[in-house]
Order: sequence, then C-alpha cells, then structure tokens
Amino acid sequence: MDFSLSEEDLLLRDTVRELCDQQVRPHAGAWDEARALPPELLPGLGQQGLLAMERPEDEGGAGLSTVAATSLVEELAAADGALALLVSVHNHLGLAHAAQGLRPGPRAQELPALTDGRHIAAWALSERGSGSDALRLSTSARRDGDGWVLQGEKRYVLGASVAQRIVVLATTAGAGKDGPERSRLEEVVALLVDADAPGLERSEPVRTLGMRAAGTAHLRLDGVRVPAERELGDPGRAWADAMALLDRSRVGMAAVACGIGRGAMEVAAAYAQEREQFGRPIAEFQAIQWKLADMATTLEAAWLLTLQAAWRRDVGLPFGAHASRAKLAAARAATVACSEALQIHGGYGYTREFPVERALRDARLCEIGEGTNEIQRLLISRAIAERFAA
Ligand SMILES: Cc1cc2nc3c(=O)[nH]c(=O)nc-3n(C[C@H](O)[C@H](O)[C@H](O)COP(=O)(O)OP(=O)(O)OC[C@H]3O[C@@H](n4cnc5c(N)ncnc54)[C@H](O)[C@@H]3O)c2cc1C
Repeated sequence: MDFSLSEEDLLLRDTVRELCDQQVRPHAGAWDEARALPPELLPGLGQQGLLAMERPEDEGGAGLSTVAATSLVEELAAADGALALLVSVHNHLGLAHAAQGLRPGPRAQELPALTDGRHIAAWALSERGSGSDALRLSTSARRDGDGWVLQGEKRYVLGASVAQRIVVLATTAGAGKDGPERSRLEEVVALLVDADAPGLERSEPVRTLGMRAAGTAHLRLDGVRVPAERELGDPGRAWADAMALLDRSRVGMAAVACGIGRGAMEVAAAYAQEREQFGRPIAEFQAIQWKLADMATTLEAAWLLTLQAAWRRDVGLPFGAHASRAKLAAARAATVACSEALQIHGGYGYTREFPVERALRDARLCEIGEGTNEIQRLLISRAIAERFAA
C-alpha cells in the first residue's frame, strides 16, 4: 500500500492548512454559535478546487486521488468539523451523484456551478420512518408528462440550508413500499432538484448538538416538479448507485472524524504544557501523558484504516467494508479523543472558551450520520460472512 502524496498534493495540503489557520480555525467557534457559515466562504473554497476535489481538471476540478482528497478533508476537519463535513457531502454525495448520473446535456448545464463553488449540492435520503432502514422510503416520485412529481418529506439533510441543488431519493412504488426487497431497490429514483423549486420547503436549520454551522434542514416536498433529464443514473440502478456513493462518502466521514480528533488532541497537548497545577505543567503528570498517548494511538490507527480504504478505491479494489471499518474506528476514536481533550482542559474544557467542547459535539455525529456505528458493524460482519460462506 502506498499512501504517499505527490509534490503537488503536498503543496495543496499546505495551502489548505494555511487557509485553515488564517480563515477557518479562528472563526469556527463563531460560525458554530451563529449556526451558519459566512456566505463568501464556500465560493472561496470552490476557487481553490475544494468543492470538486476528484473531478477531472479539464472539467474544472482538482483531479485528486481519493487519498489526496481524504487528506484535505482531514485537514479541514482539524479546523472545523462542520465545514469539513459539508465539503465532504457536497463532493462525495451531491456533486458525485450529479456528475455520474446526469446525461450529457443537463450535465454540461449543471456541473460548472457545482464545481466552482457557485452551487452546493446536498443529498437527501433519510425520512421520518426510514433512517437505518433506508430503503423504506415514503417520498414518492410519480411520472407525469415530461417529468417527475415528488411528494413527501426528508429529514436531516446536511447542507440543505445553503444548497442550491438537492439530490432526492424517492420511490416510484406508491403504496408498494412493503413489497419484496428486490423490487423496492429497483423502484428507487434519484432526482437532482432545484432547492428553490415550487413546492419544496426547507425548515429552519435543525437545532443539532454539533455540526451546527453545516445548515442541516428538513424538507417538505409537495408536488415538486422535476424535469425528466434531472433523473440521475439508469432506471432501476439508483439504489445501487446511492449505496456505492455512500461507501465513498464514508471514507470522507472517517477523514472528518480523524481530523476533528487530531485537532482536539493538538489543542489539548498545547494546553497541557501551559496549564500549571501543583507547581508544574499538567503535561508532567502521567495521567495526562497517557491520555495523549492513547489519543494519538487510536487516532493514528483510524487514520491508517481511512487511508487504506481510500487507497483501495484508488487502485480499483473493493473498499466498501474497509470504508465501514474506517468510519467505525474513526468516529469512535474521535469521540473518545475529544472527550479526553475536554478532560485535559478541566472546567475550562466544558466552556465555549476552548474549541474542545465543539469538537466533541461535532465528533458525535460521525457515529450517526451516513450509517450509525451499529449499521457499520452490520455491514462489516456481512462482508466477513460473505467471505467465509461455504
Ligand atoms: C446532523 C445530521 C445530519 C444528517 N445529514 C443527512 C443527510 O445529509 N442526508 C441524509 O439522507 N441523512 C442525513 N442524516 C440522517 C442520518 O443518516 C440518520 O440519522 C442515520 O442514518 C440514523 O437513522 P435514524 O436517525 O432514523 O436512526 P434509527 O435508524 O431509528 O436508529 C436508532 C438506533 O437504532 C439502531 N439500529 C437501527 N437499526 C439497527 C439494526 N438493524 N441493528 C442494530 N441497531 C440498529 C441505530 O444504530 C441507532 O442506534 C443526518 C442526521 C443528522 C443528525
């Protein structure tokens, strides 16, 4: 396995690190309080190629490998988990789904703005009754003349508050949602919807524990008309496409978790040198040293799993179960590391004066979004069972 970055990738990572130091880290706490990112931030990231990391250069993207893109997401997350997750979801779900699913005409119309940061694409699968059991969709897509009509609700759509486009997964099954799994799979369609289409209503940003600047909203879809050419992918394939995109996106979520954890660890390590109790820096107490040692070890292990999943994708090997392992390990490592980082700060860590409480709140979502820890275990164990099936 070779996780090394090219000279060019390293230069880009340094640029992103600098951007984070100057334009992100100092403001991330205020964005979290405001529950919003400044409007000029995303177009700026678009100009740096961060909103089309894996799109080819001749289409305006940065043309990065999965390993290189994963490193940038980790870097962003060390400064601001909410921003990093929004960037990851746009790249790996919204934009990726549009780029692979649109036919040439609408693709030429849609992709430039989704690539250069003028448009953000959110991705809406979850519903009130369908979370982990994601196939149990109720949002319906009905064919009508030269297009589709959407009816239903979507819950917890990250980035929906700021998005101009939303990929909506819906079922053509009508009342048949309890039918056999095979037919339910084939009845799913994915549509690229204008966020300001008549009949589409976005809630106020949901009052979440963390990732508050990422603008998560619920959607109500009441007779939303979508032109037929905005259907993504081949008929009957939308579910398989969505699951494959989620595999890719989980590598991004794992990178977000690793970055949040590393960011919190670095803040805690610096604090431990400065804070004195009993006449010496708390970094001299073995209890604190061991916390930092454990954080470094579990985060590094998770990061290696993340790079491994990214690398497997780059070289064309199956990587879905590896992505699940990486996400499971990284999300858990990040939550524990952030909690320990808070502990190292004592009472100060429990306040908004230090970034570790935000890191802990942000990290917690990584154990839930894009499939909970329990669902990752289910996917991993399913892959093991397949391997050892007689
Ligand atoms: C801030 C935020 C942003 C989100 N962004 C998006 C987004 O952009 N797009 C989108 O589509 N969705 C999004 N989601 C939704 C997210 O993907 C779901 O919340 C998640 O998949 C879990 O679904 P649920 O909340 O319905 O929980 P449930 O599925 O109801 O699960 C409840 C509990 O039961 C467990 N459980 C369920 N089934 C099993 C099983 N078979 N075995 C063992 N345990 C099980 C779960 O692990 C969990 O602990 C977001 C959620 C949040 C909070």
